[in-house]
Amino acid sequence: MPNIDTQRITIGPEGILRVPDNPIVPFIEGDGIGPDVWAGARRVLDAAVASVYGDQRRIKWLEVMAGERAYRETNESLPEETLQTIKDHVVAIKGPLTTPVGKGIRSVNVSLRQRLDLYACVRPIRYIKGVSSPMRHPERVNMVVFRENTEDVYAGIEWEAGSREAEAVIAFLKESIGVDVAKESAIGIKPMSRKASRRLVARAIQYALDHGFPSVTLVHKGNIMKYTEGAFMSWGYEVAREMFGDHVVFESDGGLEPEEKVSSGKVVIKDRIADMMFQQVLLRPEAYHVIATPNLNGDYLSDALAAQVGGLGMAPGANIGDSCAVFEATHGTAPKYAGKNKANPSSLILSGVMMLQHMGWTEAASAIEQAIQKSISHGLVTYDLARQMPDSQELKCSEFAQAVIERLG
Ligand code: NAP
Repeated sequence: MPNIDTQRITIGPEGILRVPDNPIVPFIEGDGIGPDVWAGARRVLDAAVASVYGDQRRIKWLEVMAGERAYRETNESLPEETLQTIKDHVVAIKGPLTTPVGKGIRSVNVSLRQRLDLYACVRPIRYIKGVSSPMRHPERVNMVVFRENTEDVYAGIEWEAGSREAEAVIAFLKESIGVDVAKESAIGIKPMSRKASRRLVARAIQYALDHGFPSVTLVHKGNIMKYTEGAFMSWGYEVAREMFGDHVVFESDGGLEPEEKVSSGKVVIKDRIADMMFQQVLLRPEAYHVIATPNLNGDYLSDALAAQVGGLGMAPGANIGDSCAVFEATHGTAPKYAGKNKANPSSLILSGVMMLQHMGWTEAASAIEQAIQKSISHGLVTYDLARQMPDSQELKCSEFAQAVIERLG
């Protein structure tokens, strides 16, 4: 083994990443199936980097703790040290973390995104040939969801029915604003700001321009929630006009046929109401490319889109801010498969592909994508895909990772 001098990734002027050949990258293994899928993903990432760059480049992994294990060992689900280490190293990757429903601690995932100001949750949804899908034409799905990550009902401002806080808010609404809310209601608050909405939409438009996507669709429920979701749409159009005026056109302006807009090289900005968008992505997926949407819509929509291309086991994701990024699978801890070496590691492997692209190590990223494609087209898949692919060979999580490694390069 060569003597490797490890270093940190830093951010240079204009936000450009400076990546040394041997960067330290913190990782959180995760709860439930996390250890299984992370073990597979790490082996694939290391093998791809070694296969493409030989001894020239290598990632030095640094474990940081969060979730159930962190709680057991430190009495904290998200230790300050973990947050600081991720900040210091700029790029990190994580497995899924458990959040109890209706009780106990707040979501560690949500806290991590908020504390590090990782304001854009980016989820590319693209079909990999050979994967079983409920769609007749899954290859028509090629979208990237930009989900606002720091506010909306995810801000965690809510109070139990009958609590002192809920009763106080109900009394305030009645006395100060004259609004009646049923006694003993639970209360939740949905904050959405101009700043957070604009920066999310700006990032989505910049991504569409950088990657040659023809449209950005603002997905909202502004017909009902006018001052939150409706404002998200207005702020989105506002930032599109102010920051990208020369590079975008608006569907609402009319005049041009869609083909003419695309041939002009400009990105078309349009908007859709969220419920209608769920039918659009099933019936006309080819009409949508980059989607920018508030937090809750984005959560629902990205899981539904993942199902169209093979399920949660195949869907990667990234949480990106201006000063750091944390890459993570879209799925959760799937507790019933924990420790069974059964889950599909592709989602975390593909999140690692996004991480390599973010670092500029695109050759290694492409090698992994091609190797996953080859494994699947040879019918080598984990249980989730095998149950819908009659002629396939069902592999364990670790065996699938090995199959991908054997097909690198
Ligand atoms: P989930 O863990 O995503 O699992 C739901 C189902 O999706 C699984 O039972 C399985 O379906 C399928 N699935 C998920 N991951 C898969 C994989 N890698 N390979 C194959 N199939 C996979 O969702 P959940 O049961 O609603 O949530 C469990 C816990 O995870 C909760 O505590 C939740 O808060 C947490 N969670 C964490 C994150 C995160 O860390 N970012 C995200 C979402 C949820 P079948 O049973 O049909 O095989």
